[in-house]
Amino acid sequence: MARYDPNNIFAKILRGELPAHKVYENSDTMVFMDIMPRSDGHMLVIPKTPCRNFLDASPEQLAAVMATAQKMSHIAMRAFDAQGVTVQQFNEAAGGQEVFHLHFHILPRRDGDTVRPPG
Ligand code: C5P
Repeated sequence: MARYDPNNIFAKILRGELPAHKVYENSDTMVFMDIMPRSDGHMLVIPKTPCRNFLDASPEQLAAVMATAQKMSHIAMRAFDAQGVTVQQFNEAAGGQEVFHLHFHILPRRDGDTVRPPG
């Protein structure tokens, strides 16, 4: 597996070098709206520390990101009047990953809706 690239897009967002619609942060994680939403309220949860993906993550990074993902899922249910939430995550190009900084997609869902495939 390739090494973490500190110049990936999400690292630049974390450093404030690129804009993002930030909706939540704590000491370990940040959440922002996906720039190409696949459902209303599509958010991304990332760790603040360098991590290429799920395969590269420490138990501490996973615990922090998953706790924030659960919190944001509850908030999304209320804020976007959702009836469910899909949590998605991709690893390496073959696994569908496009940005090589760990992130979880939070996709608020409604009964009978369809979610556009990534890419
Ligand atoms: O496939 P992967 O989960 O790596 O996709 C990266 C996601 O990051 C895409 O959903 C894309 O819309 C999102 N993105 C973003 N802001 C950027 C660049 C990408 O929300 N500046």
